[in-house]
Amino acid sequence: MQAQSKLEKFDNYINGKLCQPSSGKYFESEYPYTGLPWALIAQSNKEDVNKAVYAAKDAFTSPEWADLSPTARGKLLRKLGDTIVANVDRLAKIEMTDNGKLATEVIPQVKYIAEYFYYYGGLADKIQGEVIPTDKTGVFTYTKHEPKGVVGIITPWNSPLALTTWKLAPALAAGCTVVIKPSEYTSASMIEFASLFEEAGFPPGVVNVVCGPGAEAGKSLVEHELVAHIGFTGGEDSGRAIYQAAAATFKTVTLELGGKSPNIVFNDADMEQAVKGVVSGIFAAAGQTCIAGSRLLVQDDIHDQFVDRLVDFLEDVKIGDPSLSSTQIGPIATRPQFDKIMSYIDIARNEGAVCRFGGKQLNLTENGCFVEPTIFTEVDNDMRIAQEEVFGPVLSVIRFKDEEDAIKIANGTRFGLAAGVWTKSLKRAMIMSDKLRAGTVWVNNYRATSFTSPFGGYTGPSGIGRESGIHAIEEYLTTKCVWISTDLEVPNPFIRR
Ligand code: NAD
Repeated sequence: MQAQSKLEKFDNYINGKLCQPSSGKYFESEYPYTGLPWALIAQSNKEDVNKAVYAAKDAFTSPEWADLSPTARGKLLRKLGDTIVANVDRLAKIEMTDNGKLATEVIPQVKYIAEYFYYYGGLADKIQGEVIPTDKTGVFTYTKHEPKGVVGIITPWNSPLALTTWKLAPALAAGCTVVIKPSEYTSASMIEFASLFEEAGFPPGVVNVVCGPGAEAGKSLVEHELVAHIGFTGGEDSGRAIYQAAAATFKTVTLELGGKSPNIVFNDADMEQAVKGVVSGIFAAAGQTCIAGSRLLVQDDIHDQFVDRLVDFLEDVKIGDPSLSSTQIGPIATRPQFDKIMSYIDIARNEGAVCRFGGKQLNLTENGCFVEPTIFTEVDNDMRIAQEEVFGPVLSVIRFKDEEDAIKIANGTRFGLAAGVWTKSLKRAMIMSDKLRAGTVWVNNYRATSFTSPFGGYTGPSGIGRESGIHAIEEYLTTKCVWISTDLEVPNPFIRR
């Protein structure tokens, strides 16, 4: 695809209508393959965010939304799923143009987000309270789980619609209303997506989208006193800033942050499958995934052989145009991200790691950013290249002796998002799964996620809270306890019952 000569314009979506930002300003979004601008995105400020939050607040108590039965709410979510399926190609094309993701990955990914709305649509009328058998007599006590209110959703650029959906589907199923602030690098698909809410029959104001930089639009959303919860995916520094800012107004947060995940290959693994698993972990999406298996831990006695096989696999890899079905690795989504990746390649070399494969930028188009899949061997787990998230196609290979050594190295970072284990031994798979400090452990596979299965950081800078699965809906609910007296008389008012 070529960059278009006339830039498409994407406005905010507030109270069911597309509207210009109050400043009248727009910023450019680039197509990463060409590096040329293709769209203009609304540059929103505090005033726009305030408008969107008030629209969501009014919608939250409006009879059109608040009086819907949970079953009817669930039907709306399922209708939205159908509407997404009918619009997959259009949404996927925009997302590919905005962030350079491969068409072969983004089309199924956009189609798959419909499944989240089907799943959480089904869950909407299964949010049940409990009757509490208290120690007091003459009362009937029960709990209700009610929506928290207005939810702010803030997302990164690497999988814009999918990572929004992970928050949006449970928030809507819970009965919340939302204001979404997409990444300033990839806002277009979210604006296009917003038009589907009206088509699916959602009342205006239930879902609002405000575009703009994190420092202004994002910050205003987090600081807004009428927002009850922030669902955030992004980097560690932004996550920390949001966590601190949310404290001022006592918001709850879910934070899905970064990782430095180990992919551990034992000497009894099926080598061919393990090679594919390691490649999918770090080179799919050009390594721009939070779950990237960016540390390859290989058992000493198969180290050289395994690295050779990995290099063989990569020799013929096709890097280039994300719209072609033959392309396996696309561009880096943003220039700052490209600069960061290249700086880490320098850091690794200066630390004494050996560049066994790749390590260079590729000039495939005039302004696009491409990095060769890169493998560093002789990496020590204390090096920065083993401890800091690169978010690019850069693999650090670390040797280990035995299970104990592998666990020590695998758990030896501040992160704890995910881990992979490759072994034919069930006993070893179970031992490793028990001892790895990671929110997700994949055994003999890597990078699988599902709407049914909880996802999130174990502890530390990989995040707080869970997305996907039954329990994710709890992040958007608050519990009310109701006491109904069955006694005719109010007891002594000066003594607590
Ligand atoms: P980022 O933190 O720079 O930006 C994420 C979003 O936060 C953007 O919309 C941005 O505008 C906004 N933002 C930034 N500062 C803010 C502030 N102070 N207040 C409010 N909003 C603010 O992240 P990125 O570069 O877009 O994405 C890459 C990062 O995302 C990586 O670290 C990656 O690991 C992480 N990520 C995590 C997951 C996960 O599920 N754990 C998934 C994908 C990406």
